[in-house]
Amino acid sequence: MKFLSTGNSFYTVDFKTALMDGLAPDRSLFFPCEIPKLSSAFFDALPDLSNSEIAYQAILPYLVDEVSESDLYAIVEDTLNFDLPVVPIHDNIHTLELFHGPTKAFKDVGARFMSRMMSYFNKDSDKKIKILVATSGDTGSAVANGFYGVDGVEVVILFPKGKVSKYQEHQMTSLGKNITALEIDGVFDDCQDIVKSAFVDPDLRDMNLSSANSINLGRLLPQMFYYFTACKDFVKTGKEIVFSVPSGNFGNLTAGIIAKEMGLQIHSFVAATNTNDTFHQYVLNGIYQAKPSVETYSNAMDVGAPSNFERMMHIYKEDHDAITNHIYSDSVSDMATLEKIKTCHEKNNYILDPHGAVGLIALERFLRKDQIGIFLETAHPYKFESVVSKAIDNFKAPVVDLSNAHKISMSRSYDEFKSFLMASK
Ligand SMILES: *Cc1c(COP(=O)(O)O)cnc(C)c1O
Repeated sequence: MKFLSTGNSFYTVDFKTALMDGLAPDRSLFFPCEIPKLSSAFFDALPDLSNSEIAYQAILPYLVDEVSESDLYAIVEDTLNFDLPVVPIHDNIHTLELFHGPTKAFKDVGARFMSRMMSYFNKDSDKKIKILVATSGDTGSAVANGFYGVDGVEVVILFPKGKVSKYQEHQMTSLGKNITALEIDGVFDDCQDIVKSAFVDPDLRDMNLSSANSINLGRLLPQMFYYFTACKDFVKTGKEIVFSVPSGNFGNLTAGIIAKEMGLQIHSFVAATNTNDTFHQYVLNGIYQAKPSVETYSNAMDVGAPSNFERMMHIYKEDHDAITNHIYSDSVSDMATLEKIKTCHEKNNYILDPHGAVGLIALERFLRKDQIGIFLETAHPYKFESVVSKAIDNFKAPVVDLSNAHKISMSRSYDEFKSFLMASK
């Protein structure tokens, strides 16, 4: 299988290159040249297969030329060493809990797979890879954990001071070893800008820098796994299955679309966003207008220019009707989010995190009684304690000890970061 640049279908690379480079030279995203269809035998057997077997079969057509079958199976099995349970909420609505991994957010799946693939491809090289990652919380902890102790890889995380929860900060700063956490005196965009500057800085060209952000194909593809596993118990009912996906950069939703295109029996998607409604506006009126992000309670989705929009455009050949035939969308306010966390706790005895709450609200708006609805719980409510506790009295995340945190504080100046990086060469 080859992977093309969404900006130029004639520019193709192998998976290893797409993984290591992150972006195509024209700054577009990589995407499989074709989406393979899985066999009907696979779908018939789906309910009886283990999660690892399902994931392995789903990813194999993309990687069969580059990774041995036994190595790939081992990587997939190690990636999915935690549960992906589907839990009933009310009526025909279920949640797919994606927070049972080591850092309690769905990003663990992509980060674990990507890190293992990178170390697989780098195993015969004596050159260290240095991964730079800017984060608003969940990405940094998932990537740090995914690469922790992995030979030949060093990770530098940049997180904005005072803008991540204690729980998230603990996850990023408690590891040490090959993980360095930098606390930047600025906002997420400052962290992002520093990382971007480093990638185009000629002085750093020989440092073997790599990125681990969510546009990397190595994170995107494995995110299809849990759409397959979640459908296991429902395909035999013959009912229409609708997934609601709390979305920011739309990587998770794009992975779901890939699963559907591979033949998984998904009827439609709901793109659930907070008031950062760039995609919702596109669905409503056919016009894509990126805008600056605004802060909300579901801050992992505070994205005004969703990076995977170009992949969705590629899949649906820029056809607005094709997109709206498959994807509904909604934009949910902070007030409604809090109210849903409260009522879901009271009526259904289930504690939502703010992102899952957005997903549930949007799903309830579109789901019919004769369908099966599944919304993704993208993170554990502990990670967003300050929001959840506004809706549920006495809600408390376990206390974390930050006194032994390994972190280095820095201004938002690129030069300071650069000196730090050069000194660590
Ligand atoms: C990253 C994240 C999202 C958004 O996922 P995208 O793939 O960027 O759309 C949603 N919820 C949580 C908790 C996240 O960490």
